[in-house]
Amino acid sequence: MFEVNIIASGSSGNCYIISDGKTKVMIDPGIPGNQIIKKTKHKVTECECCLVSHEHGDHVRGAGTISRYIPIAATPETLNEIQHKQLIMMSKTLKKNVHNVFNTLAIVPFEVKHNAIDPVGFHITSLEWLSSLVFVTDSQYLKYKFPERTKYMVIECNYDEEILTENVVYGKIKGWLADKIRANHYSVETLIKTLKTNTQVEKLWLIHNSTENLDIQSTIEQIQEVYKNDIYTYQKEMGNEDTNHKR
Ligand SMILES: [Zn+2]
Ligand SMILES: [Zn+2]
Repeated sequence: MFEVNIIASGSSGNCYIISDGKTKVMIDPGIPGNQIIKKTKHKVTECECCLVSHEHGDHVRGAGTISRYIPIAATPETLNEIQHKQLIMMSKTLKKNVHNVFNTLAIVPFEVKHNAIDPVGFHITSLEWLSSLVFVTDSQYLKYKFPERTKYMVIECNYDEEILTENVVYGKIKGWLADKIRANHYSVETLIKTLKTNTQVEKLWLIHNSTENLDIQSTIEQIQEVYKNDIYTYQKEMGNEDTNHKR
């Protein structure tokens, strides 16, 4: 019932469109606005708004351009940070921990653990279907058990601790940078814990994958030991840019 369209994903830029069949919202305009417009085939205005998780460049790069078409929706602190750097034409402020209603979607922004001013994830309920999707990018972990109706999960799967450690040992990445990643991003190991506390999930999208510190195939195998349902990833290298790739 929920559709997820990954426009871009990873540390070089993020952009997603979530739809319950009635209402579409964009999340994170993190690539140049003209690219978003091109990749969505000029359908930006079909979205009610563009939610923003936090102010880092890979999540807001195209905010100024997109705000000419649809409002940028974020918490007051995040909106303020974006406005320091970009001219935002239309905006809406989001309240945390309560429902912010956009047509048929009731969206609850909740706190996550990341090095930004006010980083949030989004719990999105379709008022049409009474089912929910949770969206989490850039977070060290999640402390929540989501309601039973949360069958859809779009979540960061950034690094594999074993590969990250190996990359430090072989000098491919500096130790301080590895520690920064560990303190701010989701590992495969932590993701597995989240799936164990949220056994109701039936459809899973893995986003914001690192190209250097993760091997997606072995990651999927590790996840499949605890989670037996559908897994989707973003496969840029396969030229499959605007569709989900089912594993
Ligand atoms: Zn990011
Ligand atoms: Zn970030």
